[in-house]
This record gives sequence, C-alpha cells and structure tokens, in this order.
Amino acid sequence: MNHFELKGGELACEDVPLSTIADAVGTPVYVYSSATLVRHFTVLRDALIGAGLKDPLVAFAVKSNPNVAVIRTLAQAGAGADVVSEGEIRRALAAGVPASRIVFSGVGKSDGEIEFALQAGVAEINLESEPELDLVDAVGRRLGRRATVAIRVNPDVEAGGHAKISTGKAESKFGVSLAEAERLYAKASNLPGVRPVGVACHIGSQITDLAPLEAAFVKMRALVERLRAEGLSVERLDLGGGLGAPYFNTPTPPEPADYAAMIARTMAGLSGVQLAFEPGRMIAANAGVLVTKVQHVHARPEGRKFLVLDAAMNDLLRPAMYDAFHDIRPVAPRPGEPIVYDVVGPICETGDTFTRDRTLPPLQTGDLVAFMTAGAYGAAMSSEYNSRLLVPEVLVKGDRFAVVRPRPTYDDMLAREANAPWLD
Ligand code: PLP
Repeated sequence: MNHFELKGGELACEDVPLSTIADAVGTPVYVYSSATLVRHFTVLRDALIGAGLKDPLVAFAVKSNPNVAVIRTLAQAGAGADVVSEGEIRRALAAGVPASRIVFSGVGKSDGEIEFALQAGVAEINLESEPELDLVDAVGRRLGRRATVAIRVNPDVEAGGHAKISTGKAESKFGVSLAEAERLYAKASNLPGVRPVGVACHIGSQITDLAPLEAAFVKMRALVERLRAEGLSVERLDLGGGLGAPYFNTPTPPEPADYAAMIARTMAGLSGVQLAFEPGRMIAANAGVLVTKVQHVHARPEGRKFLVLDAAMNDLLRPAMYDAFHDIRPVAPRPGEPIVYDVVGPICETGDTFTRDRTLPPLQTGDLVAFMTAGAYGAAMSSEYNSRLLVPEVLVKGDRFAVVRPRPTYDDMLAREANAPWLD
C-alpha cells in the first residue's frame, strides 16, 4: 500500500498534488511519502514481533534511498541502518540513527572506513572475507578496541529479480562459504582486535518467493547451531534484506506477515539470538515517485510515437541498468483513447529508453507523468551524466512538503571542479 492516489482527478502524494510540487520545484523531481515509508517499516517490524521474534533489529538499507530526511523519518519510527560505506555511516548518524543500530556491510571496506566505523561504535561490521577479517583485526588492535563483527555467509542459494542483484550464489563475490564461516568464526574468536557476535547473509534483491529465503535461513540456523556446538558464542543472526516491491509486472512479493511467519518457523527453538534485517526496497520503493514533464510527443510518420520526457536515464537508471519496469501514470489523466508510446529521455544514447510500446492515456507537451515505485534505487543511483543537474528530492508529510535535496545550479556544478595550473 502507498499514499499516491488520484484526488480530485489529479495524482497526489498524501494530501499534496504532484503538480503543486512540480510548479514549486520544477521537473524532474523525486517525491517521497513519509506515511508510506513509516507504514512499510512498521508493518514489517510489527509482523516480526507479532510472529514472536523478540527485539528484531530492522536496519533500513541506506543504499536504496540515502536521503538524510528519509533515513530520519525511518529512524524516528525506530529503524536502524544498514550501510555500505563511510558516507552512508555519516548519513545514518546525521539522520539520528544511534551507532548501536548501524550494521556495516560491503565487500571492500577500506582501512579508513573501518576505523571510522569503529570510532563511531557501530553495532556490527559484516566481514565478507578472510583478508577483511585480518584488516578489521589490525585496525581494532591499532585503536585498542575489539570490533564487533559478523561473518557474511554466502549460502549458495539463487534468488533475486535480476542477475545483477542476485548475491547468494557460490560464485558471487559476496561473503564466504558455510564451511569457511565456521573456520573464520573460530579464528576471529581468538583475535584481539575483533569480537565475533554473529553471522549474516543477504542473498539478493527483488525476491518475490519465500522459498529461496527459507532455504538460506535454514542453512544459517544450522550454522549457528554448529558454531554453538563448538563452544562459540553467537548472539546475532543477520538475515539481510531482499524482499521485493510490487512493480506491477513482477509476481506479487510475499506479505511481511508470511515472511515473518516463515522466519518464526525456521528459527523456532533457537534462543538467545537477536535477528537483524536489512530491508531497503520493500520500505522505500513504493514510497517514492519520479515526476517528469512531457517535453515533446514525436510521432514518426512511419508509425512509432516517442514520448520524450525531461527525465533521463541519469535520473532513473533502473530501466537501462536492470531492464526494470516502472508503472507510468499521468499526473492529470486526460480522457481519450489510449496510445502506444516509446517513453524516452533526452540523453544521446538508445539506452535512455524507459520503455517501449507502453499503452498510456493520451499525453501532450507540458503534461506531467509519474514513474511509480521509484523510491528505492532511484535518486540513489542518479548522476550528472550529460552534465544534467542532479535531480532534486521532496519529502511530503500530510499536506506539507519540503525540498530535502535541492536541485543544484549550474554554477554549483562547475564550482566543484578546478583548473589544472598548466591550462591557465
Ligand atoms: N543488505 C545488503 C548487504 C545489500 O547488499 C542490499 C542490497 O543490495 C540490501 C541489504 C538491501 O536489499 P533490498 O533493497 O533488496 O532489501
């Protein structure tokens, strides 16, 4: 469920018409609904607690939507943060997430990032390899601290909506095998710079079937039991993120209640372990849209009709990167026969095609359309490709809205660069 609905014939975010935001901020612009963000987080957390899981740590995957106001909205509802870089740690802290609710993942953390995480006192650093264990141990020793760590396991289960976001197969770069995890956990427990507290996994993104998750979680539980049988203490089991969002062309993702019930079943009888979760997409995707304006309708005499928008692949990369589908809705639908369009942006490459042969209500130059389900991996992956200004972001709450990332000016863009002295 989300809070983007037609009100008085116009698409609105909560109680704010999208056209009001477009008039005030210009287009393209990302618009997020606070109520939807909080609802998705709360539904998941309540489902986990309702299924009998005690004190779950639900750490929002910041990579899906790193806007500080978005993170703060979730933090105020009780979310922690799953981060993958020093920049994301800084964002989570700036948003008011206590360090004790921050989980630091990622395959190639630098010395500097590890030191920063340790100084900040993050809850857990997820280690993805033996070299990374050795590095975190070295940093911990240098600082005279024991870093709280978990070993990220690759449970060799395939899942995820696209090959580029499937992370749980043995050949993928993430984590270590179950057998390696046992060895590394035992090694870590004897190192002075780290304190292993748990194991973690994240098998992919846009998962719409509980079966692969359950298969992975069964293996993770068995691993916890094996580690305990070896006399090692395991306090936390991080089950990652990955639950899908409804993009309209995909199978319907599992309900949070069914996900929670599956976890309760899989973990039944396992005591003394705090479960952690790293959801991104299922919280943020449906909580955001990209509002863009029709620049031209280019009808070729030979037949194809191109809807040329003022948003491009640099603003919303998912269609070009993952062949992703986004529902496209006119902000103020006109009556009339639907028309088949190729929906494109202004960038000079064919990859800047959002979709082909999409049937939409009739549209004209100047009309606004919204890419739905764009709150996750939308603005997060935007760039200035073609020297287009970074797309702004707006957060709505009820009948209020605020620009939470302004559109830079061209002067801002140029001021970030410097001349080489020999070019003067
Ligand atoms: N945790 C880790 C380690 C990830 O790599 C990702 C996404 O790539 C996530 C969590 C969030 O995944 P999702 O947005 O599918 O929930």
